[in-house]
Amino acid sequence: MIKHWINGKNWEAAPERSGDVYDPSTGKVANQVAFAAVSEVDAAVNAAAEAFASWRNASLAQRSTVMFKFRELLNDRKGELAQIVSAEHGKVVSDAGGEIQRALESVEYACGIPTLLKGGFSENASTRVDVYSIQQPVGVVGVISPFNFPAMVPLWFVPTAIACGNTVVLKPSEKDPSASLFIAELFAEAGLPDGVLNVVHGDKVAVDRLLEHPAVKAISFVGSTPIARYVYETGTSHGKRVQALGGAKNHMVVLPDADLDLAADAAVSAGFGSAGERCMAISVVVAVGSSGDELVSKIKSRIADVKVGSGPSCEMGPLVTGVHRDKVTSYLDAGVQAGASLVVDGRDHPIDGDASGFWLGPTLFDHVGTDMSIYTDEIFGPVLSVVRCDTYEEAVEMVNTNRYGNGTAIFTNDGGAARRFQNEIEVGMVGVNVPIPVPVAYYSFGGWKESLFGDAHAYGPHGVHFFTRSKVITSRWLDPSHGGVNLGFPQNT
Ligand code: NAD
Repeated sequence: MIKHWINGKNWEAAPERSGDVYDPSTGKVANQVAFAAVSEVDAAVNAAAEAFASWRNASLAQRSTVMFKFRELLNDRKGELAQIVSAEHGKVVSDAGGEIQRALESVEYACGIPTLLKGGFSENASTRVDVYSIQQPVGVVGVISPFNFPAMVPLWFVPTAIACGNTVVLKPSEKDPSASLFIAELFAEAGLPDGVLNVVHGDKVAVDRLLEHPAVKAISFVGSTPIARYVYETGTSHGKRVQALGGAKNHMVVLPDADLDLAADAAVSAGFGSAGERCMAISVVVAVGSSGDELVSKIKSRIADVKVGSGPSCEMGPLVTGVHRDKVTSYLDAGVQAGASLVVDGRDHPIDGDASGFWLGPTLFDHVGTDMSIYTDEIFGPVLSVVRCDTYEEAVEMVNTNRYGNGTAIFTNDGGAARRFQNEIEVGMVGVNVPIPVPVAYYSFGGWKESLFGDAHAYGPHGVHFFTRSKVITSRWLDPSHGGVNLGFPQNT
């Protein structure tokens, strides 16, 4: 049984409810995870609230020492964590290693917290009056994460939140909960005091309690758009600040002058890496003008070489659950029925693994229409759709009218076209000849439109802003010139 982690230790009480955790490569149940009841979420929030009283005053030196130590431990043990992620999520171990490497960047950013929390100081803003700003933690923070990056997404938020002096209750996905526990244990080993980071497992019951609990002051959520919207609306209606990152449908626009080999490599890598279960995966290729036929043929030939399975040389693993695999597979029939051309059928792809695993090979559709469900829905699997259009303007219009705005990319050798694209496109993260433009840790990650509810993006400067409240102090120390009673509005002189 995978247990909650509350106040620096496992929560030993037997849960009222629990869920199955699968090994996606065999299709078998590998473990059970406890589902928190309201009382258990309350125990975690109480532990976090108690810890906040002292952690908010822990010195910057102490906080950054913990973060540096955590960074070293995580770096030393990233191989183990990659195995844990792969075993429950299904992504191949090298891909799991990649998410941990990106997570380390965010930990390293938080190591610089003394610099990040420096305020401003204005001497003599008015005569002998000084004005300065400080950033203080918000309190107990709830972090709710999705299944697809069980290590990286928690680590987008947790390091910055605790480095800023907050305490955290993390509710990871119930599909792959073990990575969060590993992270909590490493933080404890790094010297983080009990109660500063707590992990509760579970489903809607746990999430709803975090959204309603009066001691929780901020919520960072990542998941699908319907739940992101619900979390944003519910959390804000309970007076919390909320950042809720949602789903995506990321378009890769290929202009006729692009290097088509580069574009085809990028489409296959970004479409099928992690079996398409990435919020920054490319799911639509927009082939502009004359390049379509050649591009589709280059993508098709590359798909044939993608090694799917659980063997050591495999590049793509199974989907996370059987239910999800079946849902993704249902889109293959839906696409054919809607009139798209099924160029590569993922059901026919050879699999190097246990036949009962949740497998589906890469699928390629061509001549996809923007009214088809394979275009309109976030499939979140290894299904790539090619949409044809005649002009750059049509391509931009398509991306801009899509309800999602997480990531996009343009492939071209025309610098002017790329520059115009970055200006005109209504998407939060843009790649120029880069298919998965996940920002480095010192920028921030976030989409536009229905890919993000709230105004703060994840990690980087936005993360520090989200996890702190600013305070401005106007200060005058008495001197012989103080001027007595004055009922007028303060003016600076
Ligand atoms: P999900 O929305 O099903 O679950 C996310 C979290 O919400 C989980 O912790 C889950 O337990 C909880 N949850 C699920 N249903 C709930 C409900 N009815 N009420 C309250 N809480 C609920 O998402 P998922 O399937 O785990 O993850 C995949 C989705 O996440 C995709 O849509 C993907 O695009 C998105 N995602 C977005 C980003 C981003 O940065 N924008 C990053 C990663 C994943």
